[in-house]
Amino acid sequence: MPTPASDLVTLGHRIRHFRSERALTLDQLGEQVGLAASQLSLIENGRREPKLSVLQQLAQALGVPLADLLSGEAPNTRAALEIELARAQKNPLYGALGLPQVKVTKGMPLPAIESLVGLHRELARRASEAIATPEEARRANTELRERMRERGNYMPDIEKLAEERVRASGHVSGALTHREVSVMAEQLGFTLIYVNDLPHSTRSVTDLANHRIYLPPASIPGGHGLRSMALQAMGHRLLGHERPASYAEFLWQRLEINYFAACCLMPLEATRTFLQNAKRERVLSVEDLRDAFGVTHEAAALRLTNLATTHLDMTVHFLRVTGDGALQKGYENDGLPLPADVTGSIEGQLVCKQWSARSAFTHTNRTTEFYQYTDTPAGTFWCATQTGSTSDGEFSISVGAPFAQAKWFRGRETTQRAVSRCPDESCCRRPSGAVAARWDGQAWPSARLHAHVLSPLPSGTFPGVDDTEVYRFLEEHADQ
Ligand SMILES: [Zn+2]
Repeated sequence: MPTPASDLVTLGHRIRHFRSERALTLDQLGEQVGLAASQLSLIENGRREPKLSVLQQLAQALGVPLADLLSGEAPNTRAALEIELARAQKNPLYGALGLPQVKVTKGMPLPAIESLVGLHRELARRASEAIATPEEARRANTELRERMRERGNYMPDIEKLAEERVRASGHVSGALTHREVSVMAEQLGFTLIYVNDLPHSTRSVTDLANHRIYLPPASIPGGHGLRSMALQAMGHRLLGHERPASYAEFLWQRLEINYFAACCLMPLEATRTFLQNAKRERVLSVEDLRDAFGVTHEAAALRLTNLATTHLDMTVHFLRVTGDGALQKGYENDGLPLPADVTGSIEGQLVCKQWSARSAFTHTNRTTEFYQYTDTPAGTFWCATQTGSTSDGEFSISVGAPFAQAKWFRGRETTQRAVSRCPDESCCRRPSGAVAARWDGQAWPSARLHAHVLSPLPSGTFPGVDDTEVYRFLEEHADQ
């Protein structure tokens, strides 16, 4: 019976514990079972695996059932700490530090062992926390975008699932109502409950024991976001999500639930028909899709990218850019040269000042979409940009396509044109001419610290979620 090394340590501690209880020396016990003191010591230190016959003899000599000797539990607190320390010191994480192995002696005070174990625990915690660093998050995000690019931003399985659930709710056409969303939840066996005290780190909380989905108050402005959140929470259940094991899996799940919610709010059949008609009439527009289904401009823009390649035979791009020009989200399968860092990550990169995603901010009439043709080193692109603002500041949402496909869109007749030479820095990043000559060496701006697009995530079972908050919240609500 091969025993794992870690169990040998526990076994050794249990033997020593029972031997000390019976006030036997190594020599005395060794004599009874036919082992030299040195051999018995090796067993007690977990460095030698005793044969079953020896174990039986030891159990007999110590007057305990064999099962007691073999129990996986540490015999007392001190032994538990010693076992934990021995394991921690064998961990590659500690080995990598090149520090000596500390051998615990009988005379070592308990606080010294507690201190060492505490430091090892903290070392392990920091190492696992580092897994969800911004760098890791960015890499996972980039891979995710590549995967979606390969499939034309389209996920047929989720389309089908959403179409079935929406139809089952009794929905016929137009915008999905709050009522239909709660019917969908009921059919899934869940009740939607609106509360004022959701944990700060969550968008919704699902109580799997009592089959409830907690959401922010129904009265918040812009209720369409609320339908989306309820649908996303249902998406987790319908798509069989488990607790994510990695940041990449967390991102993938988030993408899937967002996709599911979008499919419910803008179901495949209805949306495809709507968009195909608009293309035929050459009046494709995000605005119209948004208004027909009562969703946000961003949701409509992304939905257009979902169906464009598979159902409209077009390549497209999507950008969400902040007021200071940083790219928050981006997708393209039409060759638009998105700014990227050396790792291929686009989040937080500055978009060319000439692109409509930025020039739209300088436009005076912002109630309607802003249209522009932009010549880039990768060809000419047509774009429609809508600006908006949140408490975090301004943002713009752009959807566009290569020049040859502009003919299907409303706004194709715009005379607005721009030339972008980015990533060539002389395009819009390096000052030039007389102004540059005048101020070279004479300007000393103090930079504002940019908030990271992807900031470090607190550790926890779900990245970015404070589990203690969530459990406390569920405690308070479960019996209501
Ligand atoms: Zn530029």
